[in-house]
Amino acid sequence: MCETGENAEDLFRMLCGSAAAGNPAGDPPGERICEELPALLCDLLGGVLPESGARRFLRHGAQCPSCRDVFETEFALRRIMRRSCAAPAPERLRAVIYETLTEEIRTEL
Ligand SMILES: [Zn+2]
Repeated sequence: MCETGENAEDLFRMLCGSAAAGNPAGDPPGERICEELPALLCDLLGGVLPESGARRFLRHGAQCPSCRDVFETEFALRRIMRRSCAAPAPERLRAVIYETLTEEIRTEL
């Protein structure tokens, strides 16, 4: 799991909108880009890819049904992760973490 990629999702929604409006601006579905996408998805959404490269994949995803699924799944996963990370940890887990850290501090001193 890598960075949030919220900007990428916004851009993707925008591109899906213009693809639906009959304004395709990207590469047509092609095997090569479809094969490359899964391996590059993390870098792409983490902002590691140069923007021009990222846009190319996002534009393609907006038009290619199978790649669109890949993006939608990843965006949904990231939303769930963000929600889960914002929720407080259960009391028992907090106690275990606290004890473990306390123990570590004791051995450091
Ligand atoms: Zn594709």
